[in-house]
Amino acid sequence: MNLIVTAGPTREPLDPVRFLSNRSSGKMGYALARVAMQRGHAVALISGPVALTPPSGAQVIPVVTAAEMLAAIRRQWAWCDALIMAAAVCDWRPACPALQKIKKARAPLSLQLEQTPDILSTLLPAKGRRIMVGFAAETERVTPEARRKLREKGLDLIVANNVGQPDAGFEVDTNRVTLISVAGQEETLPLMTKDAVAARVVQWVEQRRKILG
Ligand code: C5P
Repeated sequence: MNLIVTAGPTREPLDPVRFLSNRSSGKMGYALARVAMQRGHAVALISGPVALTPPSGAQVIPVVTAAEMLAAIRRQWAWCDALIMAAAVCDWRPACPALQKIKKARAPLSLQLEQTPDILSTLLPAKGRRIMVGFAAETERVTPEARRKLREKGLDLIVANNVGQPDAGFEVDTNRVTLISVAGQEETLPLMTKDAVAARVVQWVEQRRKILG
């Protein structure tokens, strides 16, 4: 299969030297890209700014903002069979980023934020036969929130993780997730390495491809 995997955070500029972002390290997305390649798939890894070495042989497309990530995915859309959105896309961006560095003396400073495009929802009308997988990083009501996102974003699978725990979610090498499928199946996995979680997700996509034909 041809897979697009997104990874890492996005950064949304506030001025030429500052940005809004989040704590994503990119580890989950890079594990997905590595495992998918090991299993014989072609991978376009669309990555926000991270401090990780990409798997050798992957086509890496670096991006910074949510808008750039969406544009990069669109350029690969005709090529891909599945999209795995592991990136932690910034939900908001400064509505009018300053062209020059904002002076410290401008205090108190209030920021006007607007929503970034929701990448999965934007691509949904063009889904076709592609398989779309999302991630839901939550700190409370993890499974109901993930189910809602699965439905609203029209996904085949959502990987729900509780990021309120020290050994799961952001920055660490392990994760504790529940896979929730569009067919209503739920599979709660024990604490695992991100490589092991990635292998389970890629296998799920392979099985789904077989079922859909
Ligand atoms: O709505 P929320 O951000 O929690 O949804 C998480 C899923 O949606 C992730 O797969 C993430 O990559 C994706 N997402 C997106 N576009 C955004 C924000 C999140 O596609 N602007």
